[in-house]
Amino acid sequence: MRKAYSALVFSYGCQIDKLLNIPGENLKGVYSAREFVEWYNGLPSASTLNPNLDCEDVVILGQGNVAIDVARMFLSPLDELRKTDISEYALDKISKSRVKRVHLVGRRGPLQAACTIAELRELTKLPNCFGIITHQEVEFLREKIKELPRPKKRMMELMLKIADSSIDNKIDFQKQWSLSFFKSPLEFLPSEENPDQLGKIRFSLNKLKDNIAYPTGETVELSTNLAFRSIGYRGVGIPGLPFDSERGLIPNKNGSVINERGLYCSGWIKRGPTGVIATTMNDGFETAKTILEDINSSRIDITSDQLGFDGLANSLKDIKVKPLNYQDWSKIDMIETQVGTAKGKSREKFVDIQEVFKLLDH
Ligand code: NAP
Repeated sequence: MRKAYSALVFSYGCQIDKLLNIPGENLKGVYSAREFVEWYNGLPSASTLNPNLDCEDVVILGQGNVAIDVARMFLSPLDELRKTDISEYALDKISKSRVKRVHLVGRRGPLQAACTIAELRELTKLPNCFGIITHQEVEFLREKIKELPRPKKRMMELMLKIADSSIDNKIDFQKQWSLSFFKSPLEFLPSEENPDQLGKIRFSLNKLKDNIAYPTGETVELSTNLAFRSIGYRGVGIPGLPFDSERGLIPNKNGSVINERGLYCSGWIKRGPTGVIATTMNDGFETAKTILEDINSSRIDITSDQLGFDGLANSLKDIKVKPLNYQDWSKIDMIETQVGTAKGKSREKFVDIQEVFKLLDH
């Protein structure tokens, strides 16, 4: 690729998830939120996950926006999900699931919850769905709230409102979700009937000091056959490219890969797995600006006769790889959209890569 192009931008995100590294993490019923998200989004490599959703209580470990995304898949009305580009098999499986209660458990307190207010508010608006926050866990906020900066203050007001309505509202809703704080998972325990299957999760109760969670020595257990680890993503390196394995990203200065002329990065692999779409856009603008500066200062040479995609295609032909080009992508896009429209949804994605090859005659 370096022979074909003057500048290359690596923008491939973070594709693996962090592990808790606690006993029982391999039990059946313990899934990573990443693979679940990939499954319902129809990523071919995750299409065979086939999670067992046959239980009433789901525990999600972590309180970031991915945790909220996963919760919403179980709590949203099926008619709403049906209109999205969710894969057909996932919709079918979720529609048959018995899940009634979704517990989102965080190791620190409400002030440190990683989700954003818009996403939390979406949860509170779900029809036939009741949110619970235990009063004892958020009561201390009433004292603190005045001193908080405005965005945090609004988030804490929302949490207190949820806690208040948790007491008042006695209506029997179809589904429930809860945010629960100060609990770190210690161990996944097998069910009594099946030693391979998750039966409960043991948590340590925590207290905070300088924003860090420390165990109090007390523990609690939650019974469940289904848990999702949603504690963040990690980037992986590419052979031959500098990589900071400690932080899981490509070392760079404003998007320019350290000590590598003509190589750039953008997005999560540049900055780590944080931030919403707008953050990633701004990050892309910064990398583009760096490339322009390097062109203007002749740090990279764009006048040479490098062949770009044609050059790359020639090299790929030599190793018998047929690349997908933009026309191919457009064809896939067109078919997915057509099939989706016929079903009243935004798109129906291909989940079998062989079908894509057949369509493109590869
Ligand atoms: P995240 O926002 O970093 O949240 C990770 C969560 O896991 C935090 O609650 C964190 O708690 C917890 N955690 C980490 N290590 C843990 C451990 N060992 N034990 C227990 N809990 C642990 O990650 P994410 O939810 O995967 O989201 C990644 C990024 O994508 C975020 O910036 C998010 O906003 C973004 N995103 C945005 C949207 C959207 O805009 N709608 C949707 C999805 C994702 P601590 O704070 O205590 O570490």
